[in-house]
Amino acid sequence: MPLLRRGVARSVSRAARQGRTHKSQLHTASSAEVAWVYSREYAVLDGWDSGHRFAMEKYPRLFDRLVQRGVLSPSEVCEPADPAGNEWLHRAHSAEYVAGYCDGTLAPNAMRRIGLPWSPAMVRAVRLEVAGTLLAARLALSTGIACNLGGGTHHAQRAAGSGFNPFNDLAVASLALLAEGAARRVLVVDLDVHQGDGTAAILSEEPRAATFSMHAARAFPVRKQRSTVDVGLPNGTGDEEYLRLLREHLPPLLDEHRPDLVLYDAGVDCHGADAVRTFCRGHLSLTDAGLRKRDFFVMDECLSRGVPVATVIGGGYSTDMDELASRHAIHAEVAAALANCS
Ligand SMILES: [Zn+2]
Repeated sequence: MPLLRRGVARSVSRAARQGRTHKSQLHTASSAEVAWVYSREYAVLDGWDSGHRFAMEKYPRLFDRLVQRGVLSPSEVCEPADPAGNEWLHRAHSAEYVAGYCDGTLAPNAMRRIGLPWSPAMVRAVRLEVAGTLLAARLALSTGIACNLGGGTHHAQRAAGSGFNPFNDLAVASLALLAEGAARRVLVVDLDVHQGDGTAAILSEEPRAATFSMHAARAFPVRKQRSTVDVGLPNGTGDEEYLRLLREHLPPLLDEHRPDLVLYDAGVDCHGADAVRTFCRGHLSLTDAGLRKRDFFVMDECLSRGVPVATVIGGGYSTDMDELASRHAIHAEVAAALANCS
């Protein structure tokens, strides 16, 4: 029995591609439900070096955890029908870079900067992940909340990949929805421990897109880009101060920009026990409870304004896969709880 309803996903995806998700279908908090997006092919596990810093196994571990805990049923999951095509990728990336990465012909230093082993399966995986974020964005416009159980590849720039991120799913999805008129304004809220530098740079020339990044000031990348609003935090910032600053900065931006959709990067590498502190100069000290309050606050602020929200999982580097899956699961549990109580 197939784990995912490919047929349903394809029909939803086709409808979304054809622009049949309209503003009039936009639900508010009173009728939100969660659309789940995932593909087993996000993870390239064959031959994966278990010592690699990027925890490829986290994708299936997160999905299986959510199924086991009854947060979602495999039968309700939408799978991106096809990997993101060039017509989407070229909105955010140069054609030369897209071709170079997909063909495996980028210069060795450009491949090293991405930091993932190149293979045709990896190219398919990263293109599927971008398609998943775009599908989640489209689904959120009609359901209120959609969660792509992958994505958050926010370091990728227009003509270069970086930090395990070949393509920028958040920028691609934002620009696709704006170009198609499915959304008039988009806001990317990025709460990964690292700045959403690629997203900020790519979307800086698009006035209909705004970017919010709250991150550890000393974390990668060394050279930050300018988001619409950046909040750089000192190392070790804990729940209380983090949430205070989030409450201070996010609502005014939502009110000012009035987005039709929020794309939310719910990275968990800002957890105090994340392994990011072993290889990165910047780190934060959030707890599980702090992450839960953070995710609730972001989604509730969006839904209470009638703004749909599509989530991506972002970074998380714990080497304990159970621990990592449980942290990435938090935003999905919050999404489900918000939908259930609406
Ligand atoms: Zn990160």
